[in-house]
Order: sequence, then structure tokens, then C-alpha cells
Amino acid sequence: MRQRWLPALAGATVVGGGMWLASCASAPTTKSLAADAAAAMGGLERLGGVQTVVMRDGTGTRLRLGQMVHATDPETPSTLSKVTETLDLVNGRAVLDYEIKSGDFTQHRQEILTKKNGTYVGLENVAGRPLAVMSPSGLFSWGTQNHPGFLLARNVITVVLVAAEAASSQAPETRDFAGSPHAYGTTNFGGETIGLYFNTQTRLLDGFQATDVDTMLGDQPAVYTLADYRDVAGVKLPHKITIVKGGKPYSEVQFASASVNDPAAVAVFAIPEAANAEVDKAIAAGDYSPVAIARISDGVFFARAYSHNSLVVEFPSYLAVVEAAYTDAQSATLARVLANQFPGKPVRYAAVTHYHYDHTGGARGLAAVGATILAEKAHEPMMRPIIEAPHTNPPDALESARKGGKAGGIEFFEGRKVISEGGQSLELYAVNGIPHVEPMVLAFVPKGGVLFQSDLFFPGTGAQAGPDAVALLQAVKGLKLRVTTNAGGHGGVGPFAELEKAVAGGR
Ligand SMILES: [Zn+2]
Repeated sequence: MRQRWLPALAGATVVGGGMWLASCASAPTTKSLAADAAAAMGGLERLGGVQTVVMRDGTGTRLRLGQMVHATDPETPSTLSKVTETLDLVNGRAVLDYEIKSGDFTQHRQEILTKKNGTYVGLENVAGRPLAVMSPSGLFSWGTQNHPGFLLARNVITVVLVAAEAASSQAPETRDFAGSPHAYGTTNFGGETIGLYFNTQTRLLDGFQATDVDTMLGDQPAVYTLADYRDVAGVKLPHKITIVKGGKPYSEVQFASASVNDPAAVAVFAIPEAANAEVDKAIAAGDYSPVAIARISDGVFFARAYSHNSLVVEFPSYLAVVEAAYTDAQSATLARVLANQFPGKPVRYAAVTHYHYDHTGGARGLAAVGATILAEKAHEPMMRPIIEAPHTNPPDALESARKGGKAGGIEFFEGRKVISEGGQSLELYAVNGIPHVEPMVLAFVPKGGVLFQSDLFFPGTGAQAGPDAVALLQAVKGLKLRVTTNAGGHGGVGPFAELEKAVAGGR
């Protein structure tokens, strides 16, 4: 399993009693400037002694969530609040904890990258849901980063210490950064190059740049701006962190306070006793995220995950999946489960209901096992970059599969697409007039009368009908689909009458 947030990072922890070189009075080098920055932050020894950092009470914004109504709409920033970021430098563990507000949607989330007996595992803790256990590659975040692991390689302490203990160093140059000239130099960090911007007055590190591999966006030149340095128990830490990826705003958070080496900080990494068996399962599986297959009707199956579900349609010689949701770890798990249950039947197609990143985070993972991604023409501006972006540092499953010549591609259809073989068929319809996204693709399996829809109505949950559910019912009637069963990208599987009753107001 590749840990994509750690770009070939050997020994993530840079802690304790190194042979720190004092900065030289003449001919500054990037290394000496980094040592100066460390001195300005409280000294190399004190920085080296930092074991945990907790940044608290952050507020700010996050973009690049792919939640627009139209694929070509500009993105409205989502709001982050109650942001707490915990970093354990000694053990290489990290937590993103925050509340995200995107339009009417609000969620309190906590993504925990922790370890059991030295092996990484991921925990996702969302208010109102049971704790979900997965491989680190299964973590998905809407916090300041899309994975908590970024905190390990992209925090100021690690970056400054790595640069200050670099094996060799060149003379810096002058470059503008955040509107003023800075001393700029590069350092090597576990095989990748980090560019550093030193403030010539305060000597602090005002920012750095590197190539991040974002799960959805792929390789992104990323620029981190560090501001509002404040004293935290003798260590100066930036309290305002702005991240730009691919030249576009990504996240910005202003923290209200911070602590260093607080013994209570590590409690957040503890694995609850009840989760131990699932943790062992996740560790043994490699790429893992919970997925269970349940039969809906002949040749139609529900792939229930902990948050974002898929539909599986069985044809005589292959399978089709609707919705490659959430993460590549979920797709890898789904592919394994299907290979087990349907030996000899490859996943030939993976249809996309809409491009929102939480519903397409597994698209690369299914393309990696050879599936052709089926998407509606209007979704192309969002879907093509997801599938075609390079993910090289390190390569993800699709990048590797492409090198082996075995990867699936992406195919666009306009309005309607039908896949059929031997009496089984899967129909895909692009539908307009749904508030959530324009257009939305509905999937329908006529044999069995099974509808699959995402984000419009949560079947089997006793949910009330909002405007999206009303529009869904209208769309199904307009298409004259004879639906008996409603399967949800969220929620579960229920009779179609449940939707009709909810829309009529009777629940
Ligand atoms: Zn959506």
C-alpha cells in the first residue's frame, strides 16, 4: 500500500539531539537560513524537542471540493470552523478535526491517522455515525487538506528542521513572496524538493512550496504561506496557514491558540477497544475500506459502504458498477469483494451519477482495475481531469496500471446510455431540474425495477423528502420508469413507495 501523503519520506520524525550547526555569519546558505529560522522559532534544540503540536479553534475556508451545481460553475468556498489539528512528530500520527459548512450541508468530522503496533491505520469519526476503520489510503478529508497525513510532511517544524540539517546547501536567491522580496532556497526532503521563503527581517520561514499529490486533483504545485507567528511555550508557531494548489486557493485557516507537548494531546490517537477487530482486518487487507455486498434482486446487488454506497449489476460475462465513491481504498476493496463473489467477471464499467468529489473519489481506483468510467457529457469538465491528472509522487493505482497498459479509460455519453447483455441491462439517464446537481444521472435496472440515485433521497432511513426528492420523483415519472426498489448512494435500499409517501408528505 502506498502512502501518498508521504512523498518517499524516510523517517518522518526529526526529533531530538541532532548535531545542529550554528548559522554562519558570512555567505548565508539555505541551510544557514533554515538554522536562523529555527533560532527565531525558539532554537534548534527546543524545536527538536517538540513531540506533539495541537493547533486549536481554527476558522477559515476550504475549496476544491468539487461540489458545484454545474461542472463549469466557479466554486464557492466552504467554511471551516472548530478546526483542531493534532500532530505527533515522534510517532508520525496526525488528526484533522473540524466542522465543514458547504451550502446547507454541515458536518463535524475527524480523520485520524494513527498506528497499531507500529502499523498505520485510519479512523474516520463523523458526528452521528459509528466510527469507521480503514487503511490510511481510505481516509478522505474536507479539512485544510484532503488527508491528515499532509500534516506530517507539510508542517513548519519538520520543514525547518529538515532544511537546517540538510547535507549540503546552496546560496539563496531573492524572490518575491507574499508581496515582498524573500531569501529563497531549496532543500531535499526524502527525495523531493522543497522551496523555502525566508523573511529577511524576522528570519522566520514565511512559506514553502512543494508538489502535493491531491487525491482528486493529482500532482499539484502547492504553496504554503505561514503567518501570524506566536509564542507557544517558548516555540514560535504560525497561526495562520494558507494553502494554494495548482495556483488556486485551497484552504486558509486562522488558529486561535496552540499547545506543544501537551500530554493530553495523544489521547485522540487511541484506538477504541470496540474497533480493534476491524483495525486488525484493515491492517491485514492492505488498501481497505468497509464494503459489504447484499442482493437486491436477480443480478442486482447493493454495495453498502459506511457512507457512500454503490450498485453492482451482474451481466453474463462482466459486472457494471454505478458510483465509484469516496476513495480508491473503497474501490480496491469493492473490486476484491466482487472478484471473490463473481470469479471470472471483470468490472467492465463504472458509471458516475455526478462529479462531486465524494462520489468520484474511487473512480481512479476502478479504472485501475480495468473499468471504463461512464460519465455524462456535461460532467466532462470535472470528470476528465479526475481520470487524466498525473498522480506521480508516489504513483497511485491508476498511474501504475497505466504503465502496465491495463487501465480503463473514460467514455462520455449524451443524455442516455444503455448497457446490455443476455437479457440484463443497465440504463443511465441524465436528468435536469434537480437542485443538487445539473444534470444528475439516474441508474435503472429494468429487470427487477431497481433505481440507484445519489444525494436526492436516502432510502430505508425514514427520511423526509426535500426539494431534491420531489425533483427525483418527478424525473422518474417523466422517464416512465417502472421502479419498485430505490437504492441510495446514501442510506440504504427501500421500496419506491417510500419516496412517493415522503413526497406526498406522509413519510
Ligand atoms: Zn452530490
